[in-house]
Amino acid sequence: MASVREKPIEQQVQPATRPLQELDALIIGAGVTGLYQLHCLRQLGMNARIFEAGGGVGGTWYWNRYPGARFDSESYSYAYGFSEELLQEWDWTEHFSGQPENEKYLNFMADKFALKPHIQFNARIKSAHYDKASNRWNVTTEEGHRASAQFLISAVGILSATHMPDIPGAASFKGESFHTSRWPHEKVDFTGKRVGVIGTGATAVQLIPMIAKEVGHLTVFQRTPNYCSPLRNATIDPETQKKIKASYPEIFAKCRATFASFMQDFDPRKTFDVPEAERHAFYEEIWSQPGFTKWFGCFHDIMTDEAANEDYAEFVRNKIRARVKDPVVAEKLVPKDHPFGSKRIPLETGYYEAYNQDNVLLVDVSGCPIESITEKGVKTGDAEYELDVIIYATGFDAITGELTRMDLRGENGVSIKEKWADGASTYLTLQTAGFPNLFIANGAVFCNFTRCAEVVAEWVRNCLGYMREKGYTRIEADPKAEEAWTEHANSLTEGMLFTKTKSWFMGTNVAGKKKAFLFYAGGAPAFRDKTAEVAAKGYEGFILN
Ligand code: NAP
Repeated sequence: MASVREKPIEQQVQPATRPLQELDALIIGAGVTGLYQLHCLRQLGMNARIFEAGGGVGGTWYWNRYPGARFDSESYSYAYGFSEELLQEWDWTEHFSGQPENEKYLNFMADKFALKPHIQFNARIKSAHYDKASNRWNVTTEEGHRASAQFLISAVGILSATHMPDIPGAASFKGESFHTSRWPHEKVDFTGKRVGVIGTGATAVQLIPMIAKEVGHLTVFQRTPNYCSPLRNATIDPETQKKIKASYPEIFAKCRATFASFMQDFDPRKTFDVPEAERHAFYEEIWSQPGFTKWFGCFHDIMTDEAANEDYAEFVRNKIRARVKDPVVAEKLVPKDHPFGSKRIPLETGYYEAYNQDNVLLVDVSGCPIESITEKGVKTGDAEYELDVIIYATGFDAITGELTRMDLRGENGVSIKEKWADGASTYLTLQTAGFPNLFIANGAVFCNFTRCAEVVAEWVRNCLGYMREKGYTRIEADPKAEEAWTEHANSLTEGMLFTKTKSWFMGTNVAGKKKAFLFYAGGAPAFRDKTAEVAAKGYEGFILN
């Protein structure tokens, strides 16, 4: 029987009515942001609690347990920076650490700061309604928990609402099937099986080379090829470990200085100001570096100038062509429909070589889409592919999806889905008018995730501390400030090549979702400065009473 697993076993509990939990603050999600937010609020002495849909901590690193899942940021640039002790006690074993270690790290952090007793696991928010009379949020979960909290803090992350394509017949498939972010907790045995992967984004690109070695046969259904670039991961030897631990201040200072808080930053020169031979030597140099250097370390104008972008894109295409033996397959893997970096660049290890294996078939469904899922497998316009397992690596309803899927209602009963029907609007990404005492700490800044998660969690902590000190009980974005911020945020994307490509960055991977760049694109330093300035001016743009 087909099984698109939405929940691991431990979550499939019968709803029951449970006692009402009275809280100062309820945080949604025990991922990177939620855990630190909880620690911050407990430092303030607040009665704060996390409600987490999963059976453990980790968020992204709890749910995405597919083979090959790992950081694309350097492990030590993604680590929490708030505790010197935590930094010194934790040894990263690889420069780009894998999911099991990342999940272990987040458990280590949660245990070190004694957070787990304050987390309600297996508690997926069903509804959250603001009650004006009591100035509190009334919350229920799918599992029957009930809570009332003065403040509601969403820490659901940016990529948590799974996106399943609307392909007819999915339920009729007789084999096993799952989405990559709902990967079974028990090991999946692919030995000898005929496996199909739908999608070729950053997730599939990590997964495919791992399972290609194990399966009997692998069919990859690709609609759009990507500019996948080598990760160049390596283990960390004891000497390097010592150096990393001694240089955290420099690592974080570097991240603070860059546009997206990664360790790399764009080169200030313009592509065509650099003579051709020097330019190509530069491309080779960044290509040989680990991580995102070959994106964020390139000339800055590749993000805005189509001709500059095309010069580098062709260099990358040739790198792809050189790795795939069959020139027909190679050409299918070469992206030609969008500029380099206008979508998230997947980082890979052995991805292109997987297509040199005899047991791996690439099916280009761009001109001949998947029509249906049948009992036996995947049917396109011109063939049926018989499979034992179908893996949906089809991405997420990013940034807004997790909130709009909840019954989340602010003042006057308006739902967030209704409010954001014409596109998300916020003030500073942190609040939205009409939803008093709701903080949106999801991470909607184009930023190395933990670096900005810490900024936001500390901002919320400081704001709540300020409110307590001044005797305020309610905070809400001023609609005028929200309008001005949203206009400013939208204006920043003008001229950016991101806006010309279909991707989750723009919300265009989900049918019916309003097209808009979903991140704040002004850069992490500008975000930090603006949020600090607003706080220093007594939370200017917020209505406090
Ligand atoms: P994604 O980038 O949105 O890719 C989804 C894939 O599914 C695309 O190739 C898409 O094709 C395909 N697809 C969707 N519907 C389809 C259909 N009906 N028929 C055929 N193909 C279909 O999702 P993702 O790979 O899960 O990655 C999402 C994000 O997660 C990444 O961009 C990244 O930010 C994050 N991520 C991070 C890491 C990391 O940091 N280590 C690792 C993995 C993922 P089209 O492109 O044609 O729409």
